[in-house]
Amino acid sequence: MNNLDKKPDIDLVRDFHSVWHPCTQMQDHETVPPLLIERGEGVYLYDRDGKKYLDVISSWWVNLFGHNHPRLNEALKRQLEKVAHVMFAGITHQPAIDLASNLVELSPHNLQKVFFSDNGSTAVEVAVKMSLQYWQQTGHAEKTRFAYLKGGYHGETLGALSLCGLDLFRKNFENVLMQNLEVQGPDCFRCPYGLQPESCNAECFEPMEKTLAEHKDTLAGVIVEPLVQGAAGMKMYPPRYLKKLEVACKLHNVHTLYDEIAVGFGRTGSLFVCGEHKLNPTFLCLSKGITSGYLPLAATLTTDEIYSAFYGDFSTLKLFIHSHSYSANPLACAVANETLAMLTENNFLKTLQPKIKALGEYGKRLEQLEWCGEFRQTGMIAAAELVQNRETKEPFPFEARVGYRIFLEGLKRGVFMRPLGNVIYFIPPLVISVEEIKMMMDVAVDCIKAVVEEKN
Ligand code: PMP
Repeated sequence: MNNLDKKPDIDLVRDFHSVWHPCTQMQDHETVPPLLIERGEGVYLYDRDGKKYLDVISSWWVNLFGHNHPRLNEALKRQLEKVAHVMFAGITHQPAIDLASNLVELSPHNLQKVFFSDNGSTAVEVAVKMSLQYWQQTGHAEKTRFAYLKGGYHGETLGALSLCGLDLFRKNFENVLMQNLEVQGPDCFRCPYGLQPESCNAECFEPMEKTLAEHKDTLAGVIVEPLVQGAAGMKMYPPRYLKKLEVACKLHNVHTLYDEIAVGFGRTGSLFVCGEHKLNPTFLCLSKGITSGYLPLAATLTTDEIYSAFYGDFSTLKLFIHSHSYSANPLACAVANETLAMLTENNFLKTLQPKIKALGEYGKRLEQLEWCGEFRQTGMIAAAELVQNRETKEPFPFEARVGYRIFLEGLKRGVFMRPLGNVIYFIPPLVISVEEIKMMMDVAVDCIKAVVEEKN
């Protein structure tokens, strides 16, 4: 039976009465209840009636190795037998020690210290606070602002939201946000310079260059989502932009904050974007895939130089005062260590190559649709931006809810996609097979046709 047609389960009625779901217009659930998921297995989620759904977006971009993975389950159980949680000040534990060493080993050589927290937004908050306090403690108290890119997204706590370049998320809170600087960044689909990302020289760095030159004295750092701006609709840009950013930030004495919360851990085909492109950010924020979607955990990596500015006699009060109850949760760290082992063993990242190729090849079917303005791909992340008119790139009006209607079509066909506005995107668990990639793309094409041909 189709979940859209059937009478709601009593638990869905209870859900509607008491649960407030994230990023959801709850009134939509009057007509379409959320999926009541009972279990997961590999790349599939199973609802209470046993119907399966391909988890196309890895449960909000977190899952790498599929659901209910025997090895990750085992790592979790092993740790559970020892201790589930313990505070992380005055106490340490093997899983955290191992994880910090592993992250230092696998990330660019300049990143030597790891600060744990428990979700992506907090990883960003930590980087922002460390950067501010570093400048304060090194004689640059005037460096209090950050530059962020238009379309950028770094989480939804107020500090992280102050770095957000998407109106939808920030506009209700504008009055209370930090006074940071929004900078026009790359927009390869609608490139104002009329260039192509394959051949350009990141001419779009110009506004950032100007901002840095003009505001260097008050700028603490620049934050970016390297290569893929996720929440903006998987907007992609070439690494040349990041190279220019690194050079300019060094020149102007400004920190670089890399938010690899979404793109880290294999999504782009490499472990980290910074490592792959030989970039050395001052801060690297990680979360999501760190536990392969098992448990909440985050890490903010930074340099010895930053760390040293906090190190000294207690009476100087230079320490970093920031704590979360669940910082470095041992269960999460144990699963993260197993995740890292699986990502780095047996040439795992190389096994992604045929899948990356398949994503591009089957994606061509999407690209050929007359409503596809752009099909883009970076490693295991792909997206199709739908438009009303291919020539003018005119978007569908948001009231038409094209993405939402495609989502509903996907559910009928056993595929859980959750478009971002008019962008249908794919960020599947890395263990998806080539056959499943084909199926996912075929279904996406059918869903788009069903919706767009119906009304628009
Ligand atoms: N940064 C980026 C790039 C993200 O994609 C997200 C989550 N979508 C976050 C930060 C925030 O992570 P969390 O939802 O765990 O707070």
